[in-house]
Amino acid sequence: MSERGDLIDQANDRAAHDTASCVATARARAAAIPVGTPGDCDLCGEWFGRLVDGNCARCRDKYRLP
Ligand SMILES: [Zn+2]
Repeated sequence: MSERGDLIDQANDRAAHDTASCVATARARAAAIPVGTPGDCDLCGEWFGRLVDGNCARCRDKYRLP
């Protein structure tokens, strides 16, 4: 294999590795997001399709909850 070919192979390997690393990071972040449950918000009382720890996204933002 020529030196140029080796460089291209190395670049391709590096790109594939970096892409796999980004995908793994994105998957880990997605898995860390709580699934949530539908119901009435404990704070504002409105119904939402997704509550985390009983609180809607709006109230979690407003009161800076996790
Ligand atoms: Zn709420």
